Amino acid sequence: MVNAPVYQNYINGEWRAPSNGETVASVNPANRQEIVGIVPSSGRDDLESAVAAADAARKAWRDLAGPARGQFLYKAADILESRLEDIAETMTREMGKTFGEAKGETARGVALLRYYAGEGMRKIGDVIPSTDAGALMFTTRVPLGVVGVITPWNFPVAIPIWKIAPALIYGNTVVWKPATETAVTAAKIMACFHDAGLPAGVLNLVIGSGSVIGQGIAEHPGIHGVTFTGSNAVGKRIAQAAVARGAKYQLEMGGKNPVIVLKDADLELAVNATISGAFRSTGQKCTATSRVIVEKEIYPAFREKLLDKIAQLKVGDGMDPSTWLGPCASESQMETVLGYIRKGIEEGAELLCGGKRLSEGNLANGFFVAPTVFDRVTPDMTIFREEIFGPVIALVQADNLEEALRLANDSEYGLSASVFTRDIGSILTFIREMDAGLVRVNEETAGVELQAPFGGMKSSSSHSREQGTAAIEFYTAIKTVFVKA
Ligand code: NAP
Ligand code: MG
Repeated sequence: MVNAPVYQNYINGEWRAPSNGETVASVNPANRQEIVGIVPSSGRDDLESAVAAADAARKAWRDLAGPARGQFLYKAADILESRLEDIAETMTREMGKTFGEAKGETARGVALLRYYAGEGMRKIGDVIPSTDAGALMFTTRVPLGVVGVITPWNFPVAIPIWKIAPALIYGNTVVWKPATETAVTAAKIMACFHDAGLPAGVLNLVIGSGSVIGQGIAEHPGIHGVTFTGSNAVGKRIAQAAVARGAKYQLEMGGKNPVIVLKDADLELAVNATISGAFRSTGQKCTATSRVIVEKEIYPAFREKLLDKIAQLKVGDGMDPSTWLGPCASESQMETVLGYIRKGIEEGAELLCGGKRLSEGNLANGFFVAPTVFDRVTPDMTIFREEIFGPVIALVQADNLEEALRLANDSEYGLSASVFTRDIGSILTFIREMDAGLVRVNEETAGVELQAPFGGMKSSSSHSREQGTAAIEFYTAIKTVFVKA
């Protein structure tokens, strides 16, 4: 612990130790003996300083032209790109995803910054015909003011950037609270913006617990909009606090994403996409596949092929190039996953593979769970209903597309869903009937393109969308202008 590097908050253009002096360790989940860094456990004083700095920077940033704001994002993109390997390695050591996936995510962060940099030059309004022929009526967009950004640990680069970049380009200043679990990665992202010369106060980083800094952001009268990605339980509390004080809010939360495999599916494709969707990032994606609903004619063949391929997945440290599946991000995450596995067994599902912690050799120092498949899962079981956020899938047999859709829609969540079939009629029925914000055909459930709107239906979101053409909706307000000469 003594030799681990120390990271700080970033407030009003400078790195600052937390005013209460409290810190916590960020631990490598593949090797609990390794401390990746010591990070602040800030108090409300630090949040106050950050909100004051963001407020003071607000007018000058808002008054800068969009293309000029874009230049800072282009610079931050170039810097992030030049540090891609280091930041990806930090991510792998901090939360466990494989180095390959971490590099892919960091490259996504670079692309997101460039996309939003370009947004600084695109249209922000419409001209609308007035009933008065001599008048000019149009809409423009104005920033909210100070935006609070609260992010989870599972995509520690992409999610913060897909919130921070649009907030900034549309003229807001930001107070960002990252997940404590991935605070070192957050500090390294912050450094890219600092080195890009972003003016003091425009982006502030406050590292601290959810209950103190996260809740503090949700309640703070100086924060005009709150954007959150994380669990449903926390999202609901943020919404309540925001509604109570009339602030704008946006929530992206959990999923229980189904794949439907119909009898005419390309079996190889469906099995590979199920494995990739369910087990990449150790199942810790909001869009991860967690229920696999298979038409009865091909159920036995699908199950056999699935188990054959899962048996070949190599579990290990994400920095080892031969690893396909890394650890759970933390001990508590692993305990949650093992708890769901026990529940699955208790409630009568049939365990086909995995179902346990892996602790042979080097794995003993980390939080590894074997890829797990349950058969004979029914809709009343906990593992059918609740988000597990780990390498676990539930197999369910269906008689036909109609029953498969009924099962797939039997969930409080509606984030992502896939179908595997070659039949155009089935494809169109699936697109029409499936209640999910993201529906994908012959593709895995996980996978988001940054230029398209992203978000869930039902309890998966606040019914808002992020990214692509939708991003402007949250980070701005429409001002309708009527001009008469
Ligand atoms: P989480 O516990 O809800 O944490 C998310 C963030 O909220 C963290 O920064 C956390 O801080 C903070 N927080 C915790 N308690 C808070 C409170 N009372 N008030 C305000 N903020 C608080 O979620 P997680 O376990 O990190 O992330 C996994 C969840 O995120 C899953 O449910 C997953 O489906 C969801 N997710 C959704 C999407 C999507 O786009 N729909 C994408 C990725 C993940 P600490 O770090 O201090 O706990
Ligand atoms: Mg960690």
